[in-house]
Amino acid sequence: MLNKNRYEKIMIKKRDKFAVFSHLVCGVCGKPFKRIRYSSKIYNLSNSTTECFFSYPILKCEKNCKTKENTKKLKKGEKRCYSEYLHECAIHQSFMEKLYDIRQDLLQNGSNAKIVQEYYTSCLERSLYYEDYQRVVRNIAEANEVLEETTQSQKELSVVLGKDNIFDNLIEEYQNQCADLENQKNQIFKQIIYNDENKPIFDYFVECILKLPDINFANQSPCLISFEKGIYLSFVKYGMVYGDVIEYQTKFGVSFQTHGNSLKIEDFIDYKKITDSGKSMIISEPYEVINTQLQYRKKK
Ligand SMILES: [Zn+2]
Repeated sequence: MLNKNRYEKIMIKKRDKFAVFSHLVCGVCGKPFKRIRYSSKIYNLSNSTTECFFSYPILKCEKNCKTKENTKKLKKGEKRCYSEYLHECAIHQSFMEKLYDIRQDLLQNGSNAKIVQEYYTSCLERSLYYEDYQRVVRNIAEANEVLEETTQSQKELSVVLGKDNIFDNLIEEYQNQCADLENQKNQIFKQIIYNDENKPIFDYFVECILKLPDINFANQSPCLISFEKGIYLSFVKYGMVYGDVIEYQTKFGVSFQTHGNSLKIEDFIDYKKITDSGKSMIISEPYEVINTQLQYRKKK
């Protein structure tokens, strides 16, 4: 039978194996990021006989891990990657802040929100009918040019001839042509979006974003936002890490960047946090940033 310690070790291993950010990729060398735990001593809870620690997850490039297993993996002559490691809490926070930016934009601008427009663009570019669409767009531009030129000629001629309706029929014809082409463009656009295989997943993404709980960002202390693992797992394909910036590729074909990923756990001191029991607190110690159990051990 497993004793408790061994069981916990296995659980930690399992948990790390299925870590949320297993699909982050190093922007320096292209290797995957690994999740490992660091631990830190808590001085004000340690005393002459007992030391107090807490552990926190960080993520770093596989080629930058100093663990035994990874030293073995590096072949002779292969160099270590010197990319920085990231605190998982910073990745969580920057991801959530981005989701709330997207949410704000969606609430204010609806279908004109940046994420929607980018989704539409990606649909068009992926579509088999993209060339047809572009052709109609070109035709519209040309038709508008002709319409403008004709209107201008009529204006100029009216001064000379004293008549201002010489080209009225022609102008009307061109106007109809433009309207027809605009219609055609909208029809193709609708068809492309309607048939896009990513549409259900994009619609679901928008639904999830709009359902996020309201957070008062106007508050004096910045807010540590609870991480929505479900949203991350459902919609993120992978993320490329470039120091402070992570560029996420979504499953609906749009990419976005998050910033602030290089913050350290202690940078979140003075942030406001809502605990699991729903209470609001101001973080005053690094271990309060993550939900972690403190570990005590006897001093040797
Ligand atoms: Zn690397």
